[in-house]
This record gives sequence, C-alpha cells and structure tokens, in this order.
Amino acid sequence: MQRITILGATGSIGVSTLDVLARHPQRYSVYALSAHSRVEELSAQCIAFRPLRAVVGTAEAASRLTALLRAAGLNTEVEYGEAALCSIASAPEVDSVMAAIVGAAGLAPTLAAARAGKKVLLANKEALVMSGQLFMDAVQESGAVLLPIDSEHNAIFQCLPSDYARVPGQSGVAKILLTASGGPFLNREVATLEAVTPEQACKHPNWSMGRKISVDSATMMNKGLEVIEAHWLFGAPADQIEVVIHPQSVIHSMVSYSDGSVLAQLGNPDMRTPIAHALAYPERIESGVGPLDLTQIATLQFQRPDFERFPCLALAFEALRAGGTAPALLNAANEVAVQAFLDLQIGFRQIDRVIAHVMNSVPHGAADSIGAVMAQDAVARQAAQQYITQLRTQLRPQLRTQLPAG
Ligand code: NAD
Ligand code: MG
Repeated sequence: MQRITILGATGSIGVSTLDVLARHPQRYSVYALSAHSRVEELSAQCIAFRPLRAVVGTAEAASRLTALLRAAGLNTEVEYGEAALCSIASAPEVDSVMAAIVGAAGLAPTLAAARAGKKVLLANKEALVMSGQLFMDAVQESGAVLLPIDSEHNAIFQCLPSDYARVPGQSGVAKILLTASGGPFLNREVATLEAVTPEQACKHPNWSMGRKISVDSATMMNKGLEVIEAHWLFGAPADQIEVVIHPQSVIHSMVSYSDGSVLAQLGNPDMRTPIAHALAYPERIESGVGPLDLTQIATLQFQRPDFERFPCLALAFEALRAGGTAPALLNAANEVAVQAFLDLQIGFRQIDRVIAHVMNSVPHGAADSIGAVMAQDAVARQAAQQYITQLRTQLRPQLRTQLPAG
C-alpha cells in the first residue's frame, strides 16, 4: 500500500489523480490532501478518500473545513499555511507526493518533498523553472525519485533509456522534440489577438486544465516553461530542445537519437495516463483512459512555431540561455501578467510586453539559494505590477472600453 499526499487536490490534476487512485483502492491510500480556498470540494474529497490530514490556505478556510468534516463524522486533522503544506509533503508516513499546486506557491512544499526523499510526481513545473539547479540537487542528495507528470516530459521520460543519467550524448540522444498543440489561437489572425477574452483563451482545443495553464497554452508560455523544465529534468541544453507544433496532441513528445531513430509516446490527451504511469512506475496500471484509435484520428500534422505570434516562447528560450535567476523572473512576471489578464486588467497581447519589460529592467543574478530565488520572484512581481499600472493608462482607447474602469 502506497501512501500519497496530493498538493492541490481540488485542481484539474488533483481531481484526475483522485480518479486514478479510486480505481486502485488496494494499491493506494491517501495520507493528506490540500486546497487553497475551495473548502466544499476539499470536504467532499475528504469524505470520499478519508485522509488523515487536510491543509487549506487560511485560518478561516480551516475552520470552515473543520466544521464540514466534523458534521460528516470525520476527525481529519485540519491545518493551514505553507508550513503545514511542507509538513504533509515530507511526513515520514508518506511514500509519494503529487505536486499539483499551480505557480510559485508550490515551490516550498514540492522542495520539501524532494528534500525528504519522497517519490515526487511533479506537475508543478513552475517550481522547477524557478529553482531548477537547487531542486535537482535536493533530489540527488536525498535520493528522491522524480517522475514528471507534465504529459510531454512524461512522454520523454518513457522514450529515454531506463538508466538515462541526464547526459544526452552518453545515451545517443540527439534532440528532445517537445510537441505543442499551439493552443486556441494557433490559426487566429495575429491582429485580432489584441481583443481576445479570458474565456476564449481558456478554451483549449484538446486539454481541460486550470485557468493559469490554459492562458499559458494560449500564449505558448506553457511550452516555454516546459522547455526550461525539460532542460532540468533531462540535462539537455537549449539547443538540444526543439518545439514542434502538433495540433492533434496525440504524440505527447519524442526523443531523436543519433542513429536516426525517433521514439514517440502516443495516447489520447488525458492527464490520467501520465498520472497513472508515474503512480505505478515501473509497473503499469489501468487509468480510465480509452484506447487510442489511430484510424479515427487519421491525420497527424506538424509545423514549426511562429515566434512572432508567440513571443512568450522566445522569451522563455532567452531566460533559459541567460540562466541564474532569469527563469524565476520570467515565471513571476508571467504569473502576475496572466492574473492581470484573467482579471481584465490588461489585454492578451500585453502579457508578453509585461514579461519582456520585467526581463529587461530587473537585473538577474545567481540562483544559488532559495532565498535568492524568492527575492527575485518578489522584485519581479513588483516590477510587473508597476508596469501593468503604467500600461493601463496607456491602453489604446478601443481596448480601454473593453476593460473595467480604474
Ligand atoms: P488548477 O488551477 O486547476 O489547480 C490548482 C490547485 O492549486 C488547486 O487545488 C488550488 O487549490 C491550489 N492552489 C492554488 N493557489 C494556491 C496557493 N497560493 N497555495 C496553495 N495551493 C494553491 O491547476 P492545474 O491545471 O491542476 O495545474 C496544477 C499544476 O500542474 C500547474 O503547475 C500546471 O502547470 C501543472 N500541469 C497541469 C496540467 C493540466 O492538464 N491541468 C498539465 C501539465 C501540468
Ligand atoms: Mg504539458
């Protein structure tokens, strides 16, 4: 019996993880669940999965959750805040941790799981983008097992040799081919991108995901963050990682070898496949995902990304090449800009402008401690907020009419 903590249980990945766990009650038990503010959903999950501990964001949410659980006859221990998240991620009773909090908020508990030597199922790509070297060092020192949940990285992991040592040349790896759907705006006229709404940006053609990652998919910053994630997970330099647009999202990524072989992992676009793969690794378990019918799909297409349509992808490559805290700056500016877009504070095309402004105006340094990374994160967020305020006063009149006053 494996005991699991799910960080971010009420999110898209958290719900899919619980769906897979429910299919294998004899293999897995839930030790702890966390959510930020969706107390009713977390309460329902606790009633169904009976964790020993549950963590929420605030004291107020904790007292609401406690009341719901006690009324249902459960004595789950309810806690709140970052220290409690780190505690459920590193407790000695836990075998595996699903790291599925969105954004920088996931860094501390994900790192706590890595330092405690857990099997870390990594969905929270932002943690690795912010502190890649420190995170990989923690994994190495503790003997943690790091398994990627991001579908592309899970695919690459499956296409690499089982003894892969994060040195591409040693295994004959020529390139990592990271596939990208291109998101909802792949074929939309660039001039009309200015006016797209959060609802349009969140409507992904193939995947159902949380709102932040959905906007990241629309700007292709998601692929940019994934390039940085692939760099750290697989030890590949930027030049060995190639982004290929593949609108059907059936091939989840590929590895190209020096002898001309290209290995790919295929499947229906459903996160339960990588989740089940990582949960059971090195075994295979049923995930609830139906078999792939290639004759039904019939056509697989590929094209190169257009960096003018998707400037965020170029910014991410720049941040990776710059190194140090540059990816942490990129990530923080992106989080602030995406939230401002979702809150109707800025338009879609201002997202990349905010990020470029922060990258160009905030000096970056060495990412040699979590303190240094978090300090950069804070400076970048402040710079992004300031620039957003400035942008709001300069917005073109027709765009301003679409945005709320203030
Ligand atoms: P989501 O928005 O659906 O869920 C996020 C979860 O994090 C929720 O449980 C929420 O309660 C929690 N959370 C949010 N803010 C928090 C905070 N400040 N402190 C603590 N908890 C907080 O997001 P998602 O789509 O499930 O994505 C989660 C992570 O997985 C992201 O890093 C994303 O990039 C990655 N990922 C998601 C998918 C997908 O298909 N959804 C695919 C690949 C990678
Ligand atoms: Mg992905």
